Amino acid sequence: MAPFPVRLGLAALILGWALPAAAADPAPLEPTLDYHSFANIDQFRVTHLELDLRVDLEGKVISGVVALEFKRLDPRATQLVLDTKDLMINDVSQKATDVLGATAKNQTIWVSRPFHMEKPDPILGSALVIELPPTRKTVESIRIDYETLPTAAALQWLTPQQTAGRHKAFLYTQSEPIGTRTWIPLQDTPQVRATYKAQIHTDSGVLAVMSAENDPNVKHKGEYSFVMPQPVPAYLIALAVGDLEFKETGPRTGIYAEKAALKAAAKEFADTEAMIAAGEKLFGPYRWTRYDILVMPPSFPVGGMENPRLSFITPTVIAGDKSLTSVIAHELAHSWSGNLVTNATWRDVWLNEGFTNYLQSRITTEVYGGQRAAMEEVLGLQALRKDLARLKPEDQALLIDLRDRDPSLAFSTVPYQKGRLFLNYLDAKFGRERFDVFLRGYFDHFAFKSITTEQFTAYLTENLLNRFPGIVSRDQVLAWETAPGIPADAVLPVSSAFQPVDAARTAWLGGTLQAKKFGLDWVSQQWQYFLNNMPAALSAKQLGDLDQAYGFTHSRNDEIEHSWLELVIQNNYQPGFARLDEYLKTIGRGKLIAPLYTDLMKTPSGTEFARRVFVKARPGYHPDTQAEIDAIVNPSAAEEAQ
Ligand SMILES: [Zn+2]
Repeated sequence: MAPFPVRLGLAALILGWALPAAAADPAPLEPTLDYHSFANIDQFRVTHLELDLRVDLEGKVISGVVALEFKRLDPRATQLVLDTKDLMINDVSQKATDVLGATAKNQTIWVSRPFHMEKPDPILGSALVIELPPTRKTVESIRIDYETLPTAAALQWLTPQQTAGRHKAFLYTQSEPIGTRTWIPLQDTPQVRATYKAQIHTDSGVLAVMSAENDPNVKHKGEYSFVMPQPVPAYLIALAVGDLEFKETGPRTGIYAEKAALKAAAKEFADTEAMIAAGEKLFGPYRWTRYDILVMPPSFPVGGMENPRLSFITPTVIAGDKSLTSVIAHELAHSWSGNLVTNATWRDVWLNEGFTNYLQSRITTEVYGGQRAAMEEVLGLQALRKDLARLKPEDQALLIDLRDRDPSLAFSTVPYQKGRLFLNYLDAKFGRERFDVFLRGYFDHFAFKSITTEQFTAYLTENLLNRFPGIVSRDQVLAWETAPGIPADAVLPVSSAFQPVDAARTAWLGGTLQAKKFGLDWVSQQWQYFLNNMPAALSAKQLGDLDQAYGFTHSRNDEIEHSWLELVIQNNYQPGFARLDEYLKTIGRGKLIAPLYTDLMKTPSGTEFARRVFVKARPGYHPDTQAEIDAIVNPSAAEEAQ
């Protein structure tokens, strides 16, 4: 996922989430145990799913059947435990042949099985416990008839008015980390990988797409089928339904978007094929056949989601000049780090996100040059430092203890930016040539597997540390993984492209350089850096001069606009508030809006403004973003809701 960095510190701080009472004497953490799933995966392993679902856009319900194919690893086990949250389970049945043995003739008969739901946990949901008779079969199937509830956290149902075209309703899923259980009952842990097939029934005239093989030429008749032949963890099963059209951008790339956004998106993301070629050159074959992009409505809560074969991407990166397309490099890079080699638990999320940020820089360097990659790394480092200043020491490590906490809290800038710094460090210490051999070996060795940080460390020790002794010690590696802050011997990014920006800012602040006399050839990252590093207080005249010279209030670039609006809030610059109001009501990407709400809450008038805007904006946000902003804007109410 592309970062949404504010969550960890803020939510933890405001909601007071902490280790449970047991924290005084914590039990030793078991690295391979996923504390965010009820599934008894040592006894049963799901290997394949068959979904047959109706998506009712008007009623805002997904209903139907999932058939789970699984292996019984422990022949004595008679209870299959699955993850669910806010799901209505209507019936559970088992293939008659599985129950009765080879004597049953009719393969299509299903027999109801007893089941019950355990008491719900506010974070994890309810365990679904299914009683199964003993069997000698090695592969079995069960079928679950179910429907979703309005509270399903992974689903956002948009009314026609909330879409670009304003004609048809839209549904999409955003399931990482543990949202899939709110729309499919299954073993919702990244340790389990399964292939899937799906039949989706919906209104004619809208198109359904999934993180699977999509047929761009399918007729929009409301009946769609999908096959996902590569095994993926639950959080990568994704679905969207809306008034979508397709445009090819290369031999294995294309764009799905609403008509209004299709042309601009195809132009903006025209370099995707070149990015795949760069990824293959650096990290080995692209193993997912096609790479398409689905352009989401503006309410999409994250920058991008690496759903295999079909990344879901925020429209806020369509700036008109390809300046923000690193998000594509990021989601594409997940085709190696994350989707191919997956974190075994959410505690290991840096294996997904730190690797991906490192790979993203390498791809960006190949396609757009090292200068752009360096600028993005410096901006990333600044964001990390901001986050570190607020995080508790134990949450500043790559490996954090998430027991009894919402796993969404793992997605601070730490796994992304500090994870990248760690890999930059290994790259610099061992040299690019050796490190690239290591990386390719790593992706081959663990392809289609889910691994823990401990497994990564063992592989690193064997293939780099011990092979080239005396360069990096095991203690240095452990410091990166488990100590707070940035290690003293980190190799920090620098960008010469920011020197003229610093010089211009200083001269402008000192009154020796006028607005409009600088920055004419600056790129997006330089503007962000210019605005992000302003002093705490600016006068209304200074902001007015800048706005008049550069038109920030009407920027087409949502990142620059975000940096500008932070200055508007910090300095209570009234002429900027109408645009702020509009921005918060039209964009739902957490990374762009949560810091603005946080800044607004620092003053009484800002608080009043934030609450007034949020009441109007809230229905347009994804449930995750609603919860995130609830915690910022109404912290005491959010705490009670916990
Ligand atoms: Zn990511």
